[in-house]
Amino acid sequence: MPLLVMKFGGTSVADLSRIENAAKKVQAEVARGYDVIVIVSAMSGETNKLVGFVEGTSKLYDAREYDAVVTAGENVTAGLMALRLQEMGIPARSWQGWQVPINTTSAHGSARFVSIPRDHIDQKFAEGFKVAVVAGFQGVSAEGRLTTLGRGGSDTTAVAFAAAFGAERCDIYTDVDGIYTTDPRIASKARKLEKIAFEEMLELASLGAKVLQTRSVELAMRYKVRLRVLSSFEDTDENSGTLVCDEEEIMESKVVSGVAYSRDEAKMTLVTVEDRPGVASAIFGPLAEAGVNVDMIVQNISERNYGSHPGAVTDMTFSVPVNQVARAQKAMEDARSAGLINYDELIADTEVAKVSVVGIGMRSQVGVAAKMFQALSSENINIKVIATSEIKISVLIDRKYMELAVQALHDAFELDKA
Ligand code: ASP
Ligand code: MG
Repeated sequence: MPLLVMKFGGTSVADLSRIENAAKKVQAEVARGYDVIVIVSAMSGETNKLVGFVEGTSKLYDAREYDAVVTAGENVTAGLMALRLQEMGIPARSWQGWQVPINTTSAHGSARFVSIPRDHIDQKFAEGFKVAVVAGFQGVSAEGRLTTLGRGGSDTTAVAFAAAFGAERCDIYTDVDGIYTTDPRIASKARKLEKIAFEEMLELASLGAKVLQTRSVELAMRYKVRLRVLSSFEDTDENSGTLVCDEEEIMESKVVSGVAYSRDEAKMTLVTVEDRPGVASAIFGPLAEAGVNVDMIVQNISERNYGSHPGAVTDMTFSVPVNQVARAQKAMEDARSAGLINYDELIADTEVAKVSVVGIGMRSQVGVAAKMFQALSSENINIKVIATSEIKISVLIDRKYMELAVQALHDAFELDKA
């Protein structure tokens, strides 16, 4: 039997009638001849509520008990989905993570998959079951404790099952009808993409297009799992939504596929650090240890500004999420007190945003950066930091121009046109 994985996010299972609506989508695939593994999230808002219970009980909570509590949300929807399918006459049953078992590491709150043995679910399909409903976001550690994969983890559960069971496709049902060239709330001309390459999606996902958990896209890319993102609130067929796939499946791709943004960034500059071997390591080592998520890094030796010591000192600029500024400051102050580094000042600009253009076509096309900078300059937007990779160019700009920049870039690269 061909097999499909269908994942329903929190808004798609938010109440009993939505669960019924989702179950009808499963029924349609069973009618087309598929065996189906359904992965469910918790009802929307439920995980937040459970996290609130934990935090309201214990400030420095035991992460094992956090996982024991928050896995409950998915357990409820898995059971309800199986019941609804049974009501429709479809042989189905639910599995919690430990029952499969979904074996994970014991990094509670951000566990990773170790293995997903197929035997149990395969056997049920062989006995005539048509649907296996599996609770997303959870697993079990070697110690036998419940684990969770990190927020948004059900996407990753879905991709892992699609890989483990050799599914034809992994359909991610959500509250948007696909992946767009940019956020339609910011640029009204945003266009839904028919296909997007894994690598592009990875850049868009990590840059703040919050449709898919980044890890799920990494996993899909590694195992070449074709992912389809589509809406559970519309009539859908096999051509609906956006297919996230290998770039070889995309015949002709534009130079730029999408414009991503990340609103809450901060730019931090260490002024006059020594320019000697080991300085970068002495800065970014402590930041990493403090759990600071450094993104862009720019080191610029300013010989002119430091006149008498040409090349002997440098400024180091890096970007971090705005809510990690205090943590970064503390890490740097501690490193200075410990004699690891020396600097005159640490300047934090907390009013910046990151805007990026992404596209696999950039690999073979020159002039993309020039075009991007031209588009920003014609709107009088000042660029504070630039970073590039093979398929992405990112800039930090003042946050108040973020929307304008997204629109200008969307226009400049004609993303509204197919
Ligand atoms: N329910 C979990 C969360 O809200 C996992 C998920 O929905 O993917 O993060
Ligand atoms: Mg999600």
